[in-house]
Formats: sequence, C-alpha cells, structure tokens
Amino acid sequence: MIRFPDGTIKLRNPHIAEMDQDILYHLALGSGSHDLVEMFSDVRYVCMGGTPKRMEGFANFIMDEIGYKLPTGTTLLDISYLSYRYSMYKVGPVLCFSHGMGIPSVGILLHEVIKLMYHAKCKNPIFFRLGTCGGIGIEGGNLVISESAVDGLMHPYLELPVLGKMQRRPAILDKQLAHELKDLRFESDPFSVTVGKTMCTYDFYEGQGRLDGAFCDYSEEDKLDFLHKIHQDNIVNMEMESLCFAALCHHAGIRCAVICVTLLNRLTGDQVSTSKEVLGKWQEYPQMLVSRYIKQQMGLPISRPQRTHPQAMKNKCVVTRDECSHQPRMMEGLERQHLCTVRIP
Ligand code: URA
Repeated sequence: MIRFPDGTIKLRNPHIAEMDQDILYHLALGSGSHDLVEMFSDVRYVCMGGTPKRMEGFANFIMDEIGYKLPTGTTLLDISYLSYRYSMYKVGPVLCFSHGMGIPSVGILLHEVIKLMYHAKCKNPIFFRLGTCGGIGIEGGNLVISESAVDGLMHPYLELPVLGKMQRRPAILDKQLAHELKDLRFESDPFSVTVGKTMCTYDFYEGQGRLDGAFCDYSEEDKLDFLHKIHQDNIVNMEMESLCFAALCHHAGIRCAVICVTLLNRLTGDQVSTSKEVLGKWQEYPQMLVSRYIKQQMGLPISRPQRTHPQAMKNKCVVTRDECSHQPRMMEGLERQHLCTVRIP
C-alpha cells in the first residue's frame, strides 16, 4: 500500500517524517519555509517535459484550455526560478515542470516532486511526460505513447548503484492510461498515435546508435542491423527519460504516461533536420492529447478547436525588468532576466 485511503501519497522513506523540515533543494521550496498544502494540495495532474520554454508554453496552453483565470493583476510565474535548475508553473490543478535531459536529471526532479505531492497531501495525482523522441519505423511528427520502457540492453528496469550494490526498479507504465490517451486522437489530427515499447538510452548519440556524434566505432551496417533488430522486438521509439520516469512513478504508486512526438524516423537518418518552426508545431501534439485527457477528467468538453487561443508565449514581454510596467516588483533577485509572461494585445 503506497497510498493512504484518501489517495494521498505514502512515502517509502521513514526518514522524511522524522525530519524537522524537508528542503526540496532543486525546486527552491521547503516544508518548513512554505505552506505546501496551501500552495499545492489541489494539484491532480503533473506534466513534465525537457525544456523550460516548452513547459511554459504548455502552462499557458492548458490555462486557456481549462479556462483557468488568473486574478487580475497577476501573471504566470516560474515558481522554482530561484533554483536555477528546473522550471515550474502551476495552473489550477495542473503543475508543469521542465525536467532537463536524461535519467539523472529527471530522476532528481521526480524525487522532489513525489515528496512535494506527499507534503502537499495531493490526492491521486497523475504524472505525464510530454517529450520528443526518435521514431523507429515512424516518420517525424507523429505520437508514440509508451506501453513499457526498456534500457539499451532491452532490460525493463532502471538500474542504480545504491550503497555499492545495484538496485533494480521495474519500469512499469499504466497501459490503461496509455490506451485512454490514444483514444483521444481525433480523425482530423495531423498525427498518428502508436502505443508501443520505448527504448530509453543514456545518450543521444552513441547510445542511440547514431553515426553523427563526436565518436563512432561502428559502421552504418552495424547501426541498421541494431535498429532493425530492436524494431522486430517491437521497439517503436527511443528517448532518454522514460525508464526512470516509469520506474520512480511505479515505485511511488503514481499512475503515469509518456507521450512523445517523433522528430525523425531513425531507420532513415540520424540528424534532426526539420525546421525549428515545424519542430515547434510538432511539440504541441503531445500537449493537445494530454490537454484533452485533463479536460475530460475535469468534465470539460474536449471538442476542437485547440491552439486557437491567444498564447502568452507569442507576445511575451521582452523588455528588462526595470522597464516593464506589467510586473514592476515581480521578483527579488532577478535582475537581468525578465520572465514576465503577461499577455500583450
Ligand atoms: N530525442 C531522443 O532521445 N532521440 C531522438 O532521436 C530525438 C529526440
């Protein structure tokens, strides 16, 4: 049992309850310094993706999608800006994070987000990773929802040396959630949705069998033999976080899903050569599906149109903090970078 009967998280760590306070260092939050229940107890959906910009865009998108209104005179702000590590935005029941690249980065974030759920007494939170990946036999601009995750040796678990011994945690994803998400694709969507097995690697270049890294000790034939072999073993995409995401969420008893857009088909190339503009559009596709799921869960209509809302990102205030009239005393300590995301008509 890793949940209390009311759906709140039971931590599998007896030490936390004995501590005077718990500092969530990489989030710049703490159980002693912040009223985490007051701030976060209403969170039901935790959405994470690689980059701060993409997740800020998602926060603005989901705000429009669920019709969440900020009180007049307030703006969406990166709650973890003082950590200089991850970014974090809250839009009603939705908490958005950037998790950086790779297993170590997403793993550290997950420890702290799971503890945040515990301290805040969040009930039955669902975690989503909205990412990018290389398709195996799937062209760029399509969605893959991971049904299971394996490492580069096809092992379905996360390995971590702990106190000098290898610890293994099974990387189990919620298959029902994966199919519920797939069912939210509309006929008119410009992307396909495949539910399948994901290979999670420790590297983008050699780890994914690319020929275009700084080093390469294998031939194109070796690469293609490997990619075709894993394709035959039902691997449909490669990325760098799902194994850890699945393993830690499963260990915490949290329902989770990984939804990635393919940037290319790895059976036909290595370089991501699609234009930035098109890549930006593609990266909205996982957001569209997750938004429909959240809206459905909230009892809101999920019919189109999506992405017709005014996006704060598009009209982002670009002046310096001192020049900005939207949030003159926005944040102490943020001298140069101005993070105002107020809508400018
Ligand atoms: N992310 C990856 O890990 N691999 C790719 O090929 C594209 C995105």
